[in-house]
Amino acid sequence: MTTVMVIEDEEAIGILLKYNLEKEGYEVVWETSGNKALAAVEKCCPAVILLDWMLPELSGIEICKMIRNKPDLKSIPIIMLTARGEEEDKIKGLTAGADDYVTKPFSVPELMARVKANMRRAPEIIIEKEYTFEDIRMDLVEHKVFRNGNYVHLGPTEFRLLKMLMEAPGKVFSREILLKTVWGDNIYVESRTVDVHIRRLRRALNEFGPDYIRTIRATGYAIDNTAMTDESN
Ligand code: CA
Repeated sequence: MTTVMVIEDEEAIGILLKYNLEKEGYEVVWETSGNKALAAVEKCCPAVILLDWMLPELSGIEICKMIRNKPDLKSIPIIMLTARGEEEDKIKGLTAGADDYVTKPFSVPELMARVKANMRRAPEIIIEKEYTFEDIRMDLVEHKVFRNGNYVHLGPTEFRLLKMLMEAPGKVFSREILLKTVWGDNIYVESRTVDVHIRRLRRALNEFGPDYIRTIRATGYAIDNTAMTDESN
């Protein structure tokens, strides 16, 4: 679940934000004081922070600067909430490291849209560029597979199947899970189809090395180095 952190001392606004964010499906962590906020940000690592400017103890600007100085937290998008509408204040907020700025009173739908937009910009998800297992290398950017340095030609379905197996070597994926993930919910395919594509995948991969795809009878498949070639038919 995606967490949104609200740092706001005004109860009415905090309640309003919490209610609406939860309605959008976010988990909300709400802090009312600056001192506690920083520790809470570190603990829950939110996807977006809604930060009020005027807070007891530490100001929103100070909190913003502190977050930006922490290497592990600095990429979390911050939306400053403030009663001030002055251009100068807005600049101050943005220089302190805020990503966006909303003036109170705000419209709830607009704020929700801003939350969503800032979340999309956040480099929060680590995108894998490649997977490797033993001598198999999947280049996820170029969409290519190599084994022992040889290019392995795979169809799109075989590529997706291999990707799934290589996400968790050793883990057994059932035919149903592979079907659902690789083919999607809407398409009707028999579970035997998985076997057909696994066979193609094996044939392509095994041209350049031993068989690492393990068949778990009546269950599914895994990739690991204890695979036996005699199960590969
Ligand atoms: Ca306040």
